[in-house]
Parts: sequence; C-alpha cells; structure tokens
Amino acid sequence: MSVSSHDGSPRIALVTGASRGIGRAAAIALAASGAHVVALARTQGGLEELDDEIRALPNADPGGTTLVPMDLRDFAAIDRLGEALYRRWGRLDALVGNAGVLGLLTPLHHLDPKTWDDVMAVNVTANWRLIRSLDPLLRRSAAGRVAFITSGVASRAELRAYWGPYATSKAALDALARTYAAETLNTSNIRVMLINPGPLRTAMRATAMPGEDPATLRKPEELAPKIVEICSPAWSETGKLYDFGADKVLAFRSPA
Ligand code: NAP
Repeated sequence: MSVSSHDGSPRIALVTGASRGIGRAAAIALAASGAHVVALARTQGGLEELDDEIRALPNADPGGTTLVPMDLRDFAAIDRLGEALYRRWGRLDALVGNAGVLGLLTPLHHLDPKTWDDVMAVNVTANWRLIRSLDPLLRRSAAGRVAFITSGVASRAELRAYWGPYATSKAALDALARTYAAETLNTSNIRVMLINPGPLRTAMRATAMPGEDPATLRKPEELAPKIVEICSPAWSETGKLYDFGADKVLAFRSPA
C-alpha cells in the first residue's frame, strides 16, 4: 500500500519507540510504502541501524530517515519536536504512538512511586503531550492518521494481578485516544485508532513472560502492514480498536 500525500510528496510519519520491536517494524513498513519516517527513541544506535535498513529499501524516500534520539519523559522536548516538524514540513501525516514501558510486575502495595511515575509518563502523559504538540500539524495534513498501541490488559474483564501500572496506563491511553477521536471527528481529517497487538515477539514481551518460548509468538513484522494501512489516507475508521489477534476493528461498547 502506498502512503504518498495528495500532492505526491512522501507522507510524513512519526513513529515513537522506533529503535526496536513493534515501532521498528512499523517504521520499516511505513518507509517501504514510501513515507518519510521520523523515528523517535532514546537509543541512538538502534535508530542508526533502523536508518541503515531503511536506506537499503528499494522504495525508500531518498531523503532517508529523520532520527530523533530523545526521552519521551522530557515533555518540553516534545513541544520542541512539534516546532521542528512544523518548520521542516508544515504538517504531519501520521503519528504512531507506540513507545511504551512495562514497569514492574509486582503487587500495587509493593510498587515504588518512581516506577509508577515512569510508566504513566511514557505510556500516557507523553502521548497526550504528543497530541498537544502535534495536533496543529496533523490538522494541516490532507489525511492525518493517529495510531496508539494499547494492550489487551486495558480492557479484559478479569484484570491480571501484578500488572497494575501497565494496565492502568493502557486503560488511560484508551480513554485518551477515544477522546481525541471524538474531538477531531467533525472538525478535521484526523482519524484516531487504538491497536491491540496481542502477544508479539519483542523485548518487552520476553521481560513480561520469561518462561515463554518466543518462537511460539508472531513477529512485529506481521502486524506492521496493518499499521501502514491504518496510517494511510484510505483509512476511515476512528475511535475504534483494531485487534490483531482477531484481525477485527472493534467498537467500544457502553455498559448495559
Ligand atoms: P519494546 O521492544 O520494549 O520497545 C519499546 C520501544 O519504546 C523501544 O523502541 C524503546 O526505545 C521505546 N521507549 C521506551 N521508553 C522510552 C522513552 N522514555 N522515550 C522514548 N522511547 C522510549 O516493546 P514492544 O513490545 O515493541 O512494545 C511496543 C508497544 O506495544 C508498547 O506500547 C507496548 O506496551 C505495546 N504492546 C506490546 C505487546 C507485545 O506483546 N510485544 C503486547 C501488547 C502491547 P528506547 O529504549 O531506545 O528508548
């Protein structure tokens, strides 16, 4: 699927957490579809390897990748990023809010406040700060697309013990994304989706489930084409959840 903008120039796609895992696979797939990728993470080496891989793609933007080595807990840097993107392109066509941290799997009453604050900062507040900084740029796109990567733990009926900060943060992310979808529905061309990847073969999953054989899990590269589709101008759903396990777009239901 091609993701060029209406005037034929490459679509500009920001992917957070692009140094490894799902974000890296999404960045490569977006670049392969012709988008110019703005790749954000803390690990400079991971971003440079991503850039090498993207430059080797046959269909990649000759302008390469824009690398943004930064910590999403630096909220002022998120504001500066919005300014920098505005100066360079005047718009943003896609935001993949993927970066996330697991925190610690431990009972709530044992959890240290710093771990709680870090999980909330990366998984929730940074995504709100991205919306705050980037909304004017997304509105300037002919088809602004936003995808946030959530988790099944946010919405499953029986919450798992010990996943407190992560589950709480992803439930908050769900509400954040749906609020933004409602606020943009009638006033812009922006469409906002949540994506539940289900268990995928990444470093985070290996930390959460050390006894699991990674070979039994699907790879992030299998999900990546769907992220490209959700970031494309042709995508029209908003305020909904794409569940990769079921391969279905699900509406959130009101309680009976
Ligand atoms: P991962 O391999 O641990 O990758 C996480 C990414 O987030 C890395 O690129 C990391 O880059 C970035 N990141 C973390 N903290 C950051 C910070 N403070 N500032 C900037 N970037 C930061 O995890 P993953 O499995 O690919 O997860 C990606 C998303 O999918 C997460 O939101 C996760 O909750 C969600 N998810 C994953 C699964 C799964 O089974 N894998 C299931 C459900 C949901 P640096 O360390 O270089 O900063």
